Amino acid sequence: MSRVQLPSPAPFILAAFIRLETVSNMRIDDRANSLAIDAGCDFYGIADLSSAQQTVADQGGLLVQGYPYAISVGIAMPGSIVDQLPNRSNPAVAVAYRHHSYHVINQRLDLLTSRIAGLLQKEEYKALPVSASERYDNERICAVFSHKLAAHLAGLGWIGKSCLLITPQAGPRVRWASVLTDAPLQSTGQPLPEKCGSCSECVDICPADAFTGQPFHEDEPRSVRYDARKCEEYHVEADGATGFRVCGLCVYVCPYGRRV
Ligand code: SF4
Ligand code: SF4
Repeated sequence: MSRVQLPSPAPFILAAFIRLETVSNMRIDDRANSLAIDAGCDFYGIADLSSAQQTVADQGGLLVQGYPYAISVGIAMPGSIVDQLPNRSNPAVAVAYRHHSYHVINQRLDLLTSRIAGLLQKEEYKALPVSASERYDNERICAVFSHKLAAHLAGLGWIGKSCLLITPQAGPRVRWASVLTDAPLQSTGQPLPEKCGSCSECVDICPADAFTGQPFHEDEPRSVRYDARKCEEYHVEADGATGFRVCGLCVYVCPYGRRV
């Protein structure tokens, strides 16, 4: 019986070794970016948090304070679903929006930030993945860390009159997550100047009258522009009336998202 001649493993092991060497020699920024690209991420940036240390500490306290950088990642919501939000009393629209624009994208983001944090930790840096959507303070109605702040400081967009992060490419139709870290990363940009101009479509469409129409100013608290309690109450009412806590009209209406 003839014997199958197996190729020597040496060239394969060498190739794998060279690849591993190449990967580990890549800058940590590039490796994190590469993970984000592989995960189908639409937005990626690095924010220098030095100018926002107090804001971060005031919002989230011990867990999140003291990190010099945030890696910001974003995934665009499906436009075909967001476009249907004026018909959100239709259960098919409400369910599709909750499922695909929130649950599925949040899971994709959380998996990605967990992998990026793992990568940084392996390199002996501190890294904290912050969930895509996790309210931690019911009184102030806010998360432990503002993903919008990170994306803004990373140069990925501006804070609109809706208090959402508005990207030039997809408007506010993006969900965000972040990784806080002390790895020596390179900031990817400066905050973009506000480009809402005279537009007030989000202010006008809000059924809860939650926006004041004031443009964003970094020294002013969110309450100057937005009453989160009114938005919350509207969602509770919608839940009672239709069985779905869905609105999103401020996401739907922004012209920077609708033109995509
Ligand atoms: S989600 Fe709806 S109720 Fe809440 S702020 Fe946006 S438009 Fe207003
Ligand atoms: S709808 Fe208009 S005012 Fe509101 S965030 Fe978008 S561009 Fe700004």
